[in-house]
Amino acid sequence: MDGFDPATALAGAARDAAEALRSTGADIDSILDARRDSSTDDEHDPEGATLAFERSQADSLRLAALSRLDEIDAARARLMTGRYGFCEVCGEPIPRARLEIRPWAARCVHHA
Ligand SMILES: [Zn+2]
Repeated sequence: MDGFDPATALAGAARDAAEALRSTGADIDSILDARRDSSTDDEHDPEGATLAFERSQADSLRLAALSRLDEIDAARARLMTGRYGFCEVCGEPIPRARLEIRPWAARCVHHA
């Protein structure tokens, strides 16, 4: 794989996911603070509903970042055992163009 270093690509992806996680964590904290400062009933307050929506957005972003980190960990494990870059379903090599976009990919396009 000349020109493409999976370890470097995975490290970069892990940094991005960790950064996303930190930013959503901060968002959740500030949203929770805003909720605490509010003495009104969320259920009937338009602003409370907005805060609840923003919080669920941050939650889903955080979950996405967490599962991305899991995928990256698994890809690093495959790298260690020499199984990196092969589809976990059919065992065929995963196209390099796909790995460049999703270095954590565990499956070929057909089995994604
Ligand atoms: Zn496959």
